[in-house]
Amino acid sequence: MGNLDFMAAELERLKSEGLYNTIRTLGSPQGGWIRIEGKRVLNLCSNNYLGFGNDPRLVKRAAEALKTHGVGPGAVRSIAGTMDLHLELEEKLARFKGAEAALSLQSGLIANVATVPAILETAEDAVFTDELNHASIIDAVRLTKARRFIYKHNDVGDLKAKLVEGKDARRKLIVTDGVFSMDGDIAPLPDIVEAAEAAGAMVMVDDAHGEGVLGSHGRGIVDHFGLHGRVEIEVGTLSKAFGVVGGFVSGPRVLVEYLRQKARPFLFSSAVTPPDVAACIAAVEVLTETDEPVRKLWENGKALKEGLAAAGFNTGHSRTPITPVILGEASTAREFSKRLFEEGIFAQAIAFPTVPKGTARIRCMVSAAHTPEDIRTAVETFGRVGKAMSVSG
Ligand SMILES: *Cc1c(COP(=O)(O)O)cnc(C)c1O
Repeated sequence: MGNLDFMAAELERLKSEGLYNTIRTLGSPQGGWIRIEGKRVLNLCSNNYLGFGNDPRLVKRAAEALKTHGVGPGAVRSIAGTMDLHLELEEKLARFKGAEAALSLQSGLIANVATVPAILETAEDAVFTDELNHASIIDAVRLTKARRFIYKHNDVGDLKAKLVEGKDARRKLIVTDGVFSMDGDIAPLPDIVEAAEAAGAMVMVDDAHGEGVLGSHGRGIVDHFGLHGRVEIEVGTLSKAFGVVGGFVSGPRVLVEYLRQKARPFLFSSAVTPPDVAACIAAVEVLTETDEPVRKLWENGKALKEGLAAAGFNTGHSRTPITPVILGEASTAREFSKRLFEEGIFAQAIAFPTVPKGTARIRCMVSAAHTPEDIRTAVETFGRVGKAMSVSG
């Protein structure tokens, strides 16, 4: 198969440059502790913020849906794949988000790909996008012919300048992540909304890491900043804090009705499976009822940040439970991660090109599934590995 030789060559290059991704395999449910390749480790890598990934209330609901609705939807939403469960999830999500309506999609990535091209339909349209936006936003933008204005990260001054440059566009859409997952910083949404209102632009926020984390009961970034009714489009994921898999868009009724007619992944890719939808419904119900897992998540995040900072580590400028431990060189971060794993902590290294050169890090993701004891264990282990490698403060 000589045609595929370039693949082997590219894989070699990735390996020689230290960019080859070694994928770990879990032999247990997602949780605060997991089994990886036979070893039980403290898990600081998953996006299972609230511990819902193996929550008995969600598991039970999924099992019930298997019995009542089977395993598969059998069609795209617009032909025969819309089940009563999808509508129930959409209604509950809309109520939870304080929005008029919501649309269930197959994933957060797909929600972005569904939304941006449906709204920006011609070369006369323009998109204004933060330079550090998630890959799925970048790909969604690539699917449009719209003019692209990439503004500096969280820099509303630069955004305003770009809005002036693109002021004659037919439709204008500003897109930003709500929480940026590598640093845990938050988009300055009130200022973005003001700039948008002045320029007649729509705002779309992808709240994948804010959903279940920010705002009252984890209602997300719009709730966090009290911007209800001023952000046209909220994209969310059900794959992170909600613990299952799926995506959604919430906002005005007309937006959801429009996407039901125009969003290509809604029209051309099958609906989410009944057990997944049922588990998502249970997650929304639990979060509507109680904010306890959200409070626990923040307590754990605070304890980890304080503990690591006291041990002399640079935890960056995160405003959320995401806790980066910035170590500098990629090789240092990788070695640190390897030693953590040997000591029973699963926390992966992240380096260029995912983050800028010289800021390679271990990114710690805490969860409500962790106990205070787990957090102490993590801090102690980081301290021990840091001393052994002479990299802490
Ligand atoms: C994780 C993430 C997504 C993708 O969500 P999935 O449901 O896993 O497809 C989209 N946007 C942002 C900002 C994310 O962090």
